[in-house]
Amino acid sequence: MTGIYIPLALRARVIKRAVSCCEYCCSPARYSPEVFEIEHILPLAAGGKTVLDNLALACPACNRYKGSRQSAVDAQTGQDVPMFNPRVQHWADHFVWSDDLSEVIGQTPIGRATVDALRMNRPAVRHYRAALQALGLHPALVK
Ligand SMILES: [Zn+2]
Repeated sequence: MTGIYIPLALRARVIKRAVSCCEYCCSPARYSPEVFEIEHILPLAAGGKTVLDNLALACPACNRYKGSRQSAVDAQTGQDVPMFNPRVQHWADHFVWSDDLSEVIGQTPIGRATVDALRMNRPAVRHYRAALQALGLHPALVK
């Protein structure tokens, strides 16, 4: 969410904990022209607080697509499931990279629903991953 003041020290802790990568699609902030955002996992409107345990580093696209959503539909099962929560779940338990490392593949209902909801394999981010991979910079983070 934008427009919410997050103290610089808290912001720095979120960025450091995330190793400067989007905690959803794993894009590295270091090589992105966009400014990554501090995202409230449980939205403020739903009672979420501006505390370390409720914050995640997100690229602007993942943050915008997530918005205030807390759940999404898993196309495989048709069930509405909670979105991936990087504070209580491990990325590798819900996602893997495709063989060519260009796509994030959801491995669980939560993973599949989150990949779809956040459009984690949108063409621009796939091109970004390919460019970083050619430079030996992707995947940037093994979670
Ligand atoms: Zn992202």
